[in-house]
Amino acid sequence: MQFSGKVALVTGASRGIGRAIAVELARHGALVFCTSTKAGGCADTLAAIAAAAPSAPAPQALVADVAAEAAVEALAAQVLQQGGRLDFLVNNAGITKDGLFLRMDAAQFDSVLATNLRGAFLVCKAFARAMAKARFGRIVNVGSVVGLTGNAGQANYAASKAGLIGLSKSLAQEFAGRSITVNVVAPGFIETDMTAGLGAEVRETMLKNIPLGRFGAAEDIARAVSFLCSDAASYITGQTLVVDGGMTM
Ligand code: NAP
Repeated sequence: MQFSGKVALVTGASRGIGRAIAVELARHGALVFCTSTKAGGCADTLAAIAAAAPSAPAPQALVADVAAEAAVEALAAQVLQQGGRLDFLVNNAGITKDGLFLRMDAAQFDSVLATNLRGAFLVCKAFARAMAKARFGRIVNVGSVVGLTGNAGQANYAASKAGLIGLSKSLAQEFAGRSITVNVVAPGFIETDMTAGLGAEVRETMLKNIPLGRFGAAEDIARAVSFLCSDAASYITGQTLVVDGGMTM
């Protein structure tokens, strides 16, 4: 893979899967814009890129809450001004607010949908016109296997990730004529802050259900995203690539 001259945006790149994606795209030569909701949130990611990809164009850190429309519009203006274009858009920012359905209130539902689904919609919208004009683009939305299977205690999160698949397939159809592909990478259980809080018993049960016998690493997801951004994936659109060690096959 050769991404020199390409410009990428990874939302939620301050840690975990987003950071690994940012590093992977930079390792192949892309100029990477990283976002967090906090000023300085991506400092460690920029350092990781500098260490792993010293010859890549200097990565940039930007602050934006993907759930806030004005902030997303400002983000797009900055990226397009500084980068001149956007080739790869990776909607990775995501949150969980788990709870059994009978105890889940509407605010808990809305906030997860606002970040995970509406956030991806807003970011796609902010860049779609520029990508369409350039007649090239790769959009990769980070979903979850839970969007395909559902999960007790995650009605809000599962709905947001299932919605992301519908959003992606619709955009894939609308923008195929402009050579923009839109795909979803659906991770299984990946070792990040998001899953660090799970108890030993839950982890043990999950591990038993993973045929490849290990939890995923953020880099496993990053390589799948990188593939979908590459020329090797130019004929793949509207798909959901499950990366879960076989857990949900
Ligand atoms: P993580 O370690 O909790 O990181 C989440 C990232 O999202 C952080 O960079 C965070 O940035 C950012 N973020 C959260 N809310 C945001 C908002 N409103 N606007 C912009 N950025 C926001 O999570 P992760 O495990 O790396 O997960 C990354 C993605 O993979 C998510 O979409 C998640 O649903 C998905 N996923 C993860 C797993 C897993 O097992 N870990 C499995 C399936 C899917 P700041 O806090 O710095 O603002």
